[in-house]
Amino acid sequence: MASERQISVGGVLVGGGAPVAVQTMTKTETANVGETLAQVERCAEAGADLVRVAVPREEDVVALQTIVERSPVPIIADIHFNHTLALKAIDAGAACVRINPGNIGGPEKVAEVVAAANAKGTPLRIGVNSGSLPKHLRDLEYSNPVEALVTAAGEFVELMEKLDFTNFKVSMKSTSVPNTIASNRLLAERIPYPLHLGVTEAGTKWAGSLKSAVGLGTLLADNIGDTIRISLSTFHAEEEVKVAWEILKALKLRERGPVLIACPTCGRLQFDMDSVVAEVERRLEAYPDPIEVAVLGCAVNGIGEARHADFGITGAKDAGMIFSKGEPLKKVPTDRLVDELFAEIDRYYESDRQVLRDEKAAAEAAQWLSENEDLSALTPERMAQLEQEASDASGGGQDLLDAAGVSQKPVVDEEQSPTAGRRFTRA
Ligand code: SF4
Repeated sequence: MASERQISVGGVLVGGGAPVAVQTMTKTETANVGETLAQVERCAEAGADLVRVAVPREEDVVALQTIVERSPVPIIADIHFNHTLALKAIDAGAACVRINPGNIGGPEKVAEVVAAANAKGTPLRIGVNSGSLPKHLRDLEYSNPVEALVTAAGEFVELMEKLDFTNFKVSMKSTSVPNTIASNRLLAERIPYPLHLGVTEAGTKWAGSLKSAVGLGTLLADNIGDTIRISLSTFHAEEEVKVAWEILKALKLRERGPVLIACPTCGRLQFDMDSVVAEVERRLEAYPDPIEVAVLGCAVNGIGEARHADFGITGAKDAGMIFSKGEPLKKVPTDRLVDELFAEIDRYYESDRQVLRDEKAAAEAAQWLSENEDLSALTPERMAQLEQEASDASGGGQDLLDAAGVSQKPVVDEEQSPTAGRRFTRA
């Protein structure tokens, strides 16, 4: 169930039915204002609604004020052990301060932080980690780790309520996906406050993304969770943001940018689809709309399976087709598929989101589709014709160049995507 209560973290609403907020945490030394702000900006560009920074030392809280002032998104200060730093972070204008009431120095220190937060209208995140539960819950932790986490969180909530403070969200972090799911389900039944979700120390990009998708995805699908962070072992915090968005997009909880659909390929594939998918994904980053774009390895199953896509391509050895909403638009040489796809997408936006259909081209594509069940049956004449078309249409590629004039086209190599044993080669 969604949390009943809502808080505002620097203007970003969390809980009470607000869209699930995406957050991440910088990996830089916070006192290094330039590097920290650069990472915050990259995260904001990738779609972070909120960014947390670690504040373990005096010089970090000094830097915090500048970071807060210059950041494009609200900044949350992450404090452990030192309540003085929490007080200073509130003074520095942090949009929220994350503390673990169990390690900040006792109930009096917690009360001091709460009083300061109350006076300034700063929300708190009160967090419990499976690795740092209060001593009196250690036995329970061994016998029932889920109940131990929920009990600890419940006790901290009671402490906040005794202090007449309700401007907070709660997080319970565990490295265990089943415990994350079970504890948050229980806590969501017991308290009305917004929940921050995360699988702590989830791991590398590959394993961590999957663990987070399973853990957080299960909870979010049940409408539990108001803000999420994906914890990955990577310096590039913006990658955590991208994973968070993919989870929210997959569950259709939020929309951001295009959705790329790509088939897994199989023995019917006759062109270098891995390179095509990488190129399409790169070029789609420039489009803010949530259009669906499909890349399918062959036309036999492809066009029907992607009938809902706004635009799609399907290819074969030498020719392919662009389609929209399951209807053929035009046939093109395989090596022009990506350029022509984006030409169609650009035309769509230039004409106020209308798909412009050239009947002759559409008929030619439909004909290709009807013939294309087995491209290996192409006659030499037809192959020659397709090669001529490819040659006529060559040039005019839209590679992006960086400042030094070097192509940014993604390179898919043999190690990433072997061609040996497949029905195409790569130049
Ligand atoms: S679309 Fe074609 S190539 Fe892709 S998985 Fe399906 S049958 Fe195989």
